[in-house]
Amino acid sequence: MIVLVTGGNRGIGHEVCRQFAARGDTVVLTARSTAAATDAAAAIPGEVHPLCLDVTVEADVVRVAGTVIERYGYVDALVNNAAILYDTWQHAPDADLDQVRQAAETNLYGPWRLVQALLPALRASAHPRVVNVSSEAASFASMGGATPAYTASKVGLNALTRMLAADLRGDGILVNAVCPGWVATDMGGAGGRPVGEGARGIVWAAGLPDDGPTGGFFRDGHPLPW
Ligand code: NDP
Repeated sequence: MIVLVTGGNRGIGHEVCRQFAARGDTVVLTARSTAAATDAAAAIPGEVHPLCLDVTVEADVVRVAGTVIERYGYVDALVNNAAILYDTWQHAPDADLDQVRQAAETNLYGPWRLVQALLPALRASAHPRVVNVSSEAASFASMGGATPAYTASKVGLNALTRMLAADLRGDGILVNAVCPGWVATDMGGAGGRPVGEGARGIVWAAGLPDDGPTGGFFRDGHPLPW
């Protein structure tokens, strides 16, 4: 498989790249700087190719999509992992709307941009998959409390997942949202489960069989309530 991962330089994204490479996939590890992508790729044995990609920069997305088509001709799985702004210190009534916009730019418009740009490469794959790394914070069953910017952006990402799944079903592209659970990373902080466990459900969704689910929300391969 040819797999492209955003935010692959650290945290869950880096572990997702490691797990794909360990099973023999070719990984396009992307990060916001060439140096970060190169260093992170070098730390993983296997076919791991670094590319610079800031998901908020349209020109980066266009360049990366062009490079993927030119080098590989297709991409089997796009993993929209990159995200920001777990704003635990805020609540919706007094949220900073600039931060809400920033979160949406990375966590929602980023994945949307990537899917649009990579559609030709996905359509050229025999088994195309899109995995949007989401969060249970976006489940309407657990709404309220802190992280308004983050939560709103991930609710949008879940809606995008449903729309893309419906609209791309005819192309055979399976699109799912995956929550990795609470994972010990820079974003998750200490105390969460190891990255290996969080990454596993993402890799699972990228390797679904052709008759697998689309438009779903999962953790560890099991459905989560929207
Ligand atoms: P981290 O904060 O550890 O890593 C985030 C990654 O996203 C970094 O590689 C960062 O790059 C990258 N990134 C941020 N902005 C951009 C951008 N504009 N363009 C490209 N890359 C960018 O987060 P986690 O590994 O914990 O989270 C990974 C995913 O899992 C996210 O989608 C998150 O919402 C989700 N998640 C995490 C949970 C947890 O407990 N950790 C729980 C539920 C969901 P850089 O190094 O340049 O900043």
